[in-house]
Amino acid sequence: MDRRFGAAAACAALILVGCSAGRPIALPDPPEPQSVSSSPSVPGVGDPGVHDPYFAHYGNGGYDVTAYALKIKYDPASGNLTGDVTITATAKQELRQFNLDLHGFTIDKIEIDKAAATFSRAADELTVKPATAIASGATFATRVTYAGIPQPITGSGLGSTGFLKSDETVFVAGQPEAASTWFPVNDHPSDKALYTIAITAPTASEVISNGVLEGQDKQPGWTTWRWREDQPMASYLATLAIGKFRVVESTHKGKPVRIAIAARIPVGQVDEAVAKTPEICDYLGGFFGDYPFDAYGAIVIDDPRVGFALETQSRPIYAASMIGGGDRGGIVAHELTHQWFGDSVSIADWRQIWLNEGFATYGQWMWVEHVGGDTVDESFEDNFSNASSAIWQVAPGDPGRTRVFDRSVYYRGAMTLHALRLTVGDDKFFQILKTWAAEKRNGNATTAEFVAHAEKISGAELSALFDAWLFGKGRPAHP
Ligand SMILES: [Zn+2]
Repeated sequence: MDRRFGAAAACAALILVGCSAGRPIALPDPPEPQSVSSSPSVPGVGDPGVHDPYFAHYGNGGYDVTAYALKIKYDPASGNLTGDVTITATAKQELRQFNLDLHGFTIDKIEIDKAAATFSRAADELTVKPATAIASGATFATRVTYAGIPQPITGSGLGSTGFLKSDETVFVAGQPEAASTWFPVNDHPSDKALYTIAITAPTASEVISNGVLEGQDKQPGWTTWRWREDQPMASYLATLAIGKFRVVESTHKGKPVRIAIAARIPVGQVDEAVAKTPEICDYLGGFFGDYPFDAYGAIVIDDPRVGFALETQSRPIYAASMIGGGDRGGIVAHELTHQWFGDSVSIADWRQIWLNEGFATYGQWMWVEHVGGDTVDESFEDNFSNASSAIWQVAPGDPGRTRVFDRSVYYRGAMTLHALRLTVGDDKFFQILKTWAAEKRNGNATTAEFVAHAEKISGAELSALFDAWLFGKGRPAHP
């Protein structure tokens, strides 16, 4: 599965990998993931991985999570996090044991349907054994209470991801895995679920998470912020930020807008850049269909070590250094395009990553053209003209485990869409995108499904075009 094209290079400027719009990087070669049995599953034993073609040990099999109810308390003074998490899931097979993903922490206890369960741990795999087997098709609730100082994931060779601590804030961001650094989870985008996220922090702190803020409960010195995400969400898109932020609240089209900017960032360019969030969503919605979530927003952090942006659902997280610097709102448009492509329509596995990044880069190009910058045609031609570019050596449709966030996935991915547009015409092209977002809304998708969809809508035979642009080595013919 792992196709390598030349030497991989790490980017020291990034402590996070992920969307990193505008600065895609190749990843260092990670160690082999822990082995996951490919033999036929053992009766009653949930698979410890979902057999993602790039990250075999990610996620777990045997059940489908419908909802996470997170109750998290974080004490910035000690750095300690205590969690009380209930995971509601449906068994896809009889389960005498199943796995969750959890990075670090000490587990206090685990209950399944209020009965004590036993558990064991090996690295980030948490194996749970219910007192009695769970029948196939049954809905069951797993409650895990745990505590500890959260640690980012650093050992995979994929950079530091997950729960990260900065001077005045803590925040969660990372891709392809991050969630297990703050709660037990089926950590793979194929198992999307609903979330309620209750965060308790010192009253002096702002707390920001995904979706709609339902309310706040105050106790002496502490405040619990109750957030709710009512659209299915991939686990890596769940986020949290606690600290000193200035928060701007408003309403757009009846939905709450909540923009949080690290307090020490000077008021100015950054504020102006993220304030365009509703306007950019309206523009993109004209092409992709209605904005798919119940809230709008942004989180801007200030940490000189961090140069990234990530499309955390309904509330993207941005490094201040990524925005407001004359990119004409391109990075914000990139993360907001992901709300349709990546967040609402999620990848079935990490090999499909261009369905996220190629589309988001295309939305970025469209917005830049809209505000008077380079046209999409110019962005395409600018990239196409470089015949010796490394992107021609990396297939965005199957970049390989170490090149999930390669430049090719972003730019050649976006160029693939433009090649499609030039082939089928504007009307069919935007019909393809809008109906794709509608038909796959809240679901998961593959490249093969997108190709079939584009052929169905356009009535054209497109396999040669997609083969050349997504899977071929060497620069394709100009469309
Ligand atoms: Zn992106």
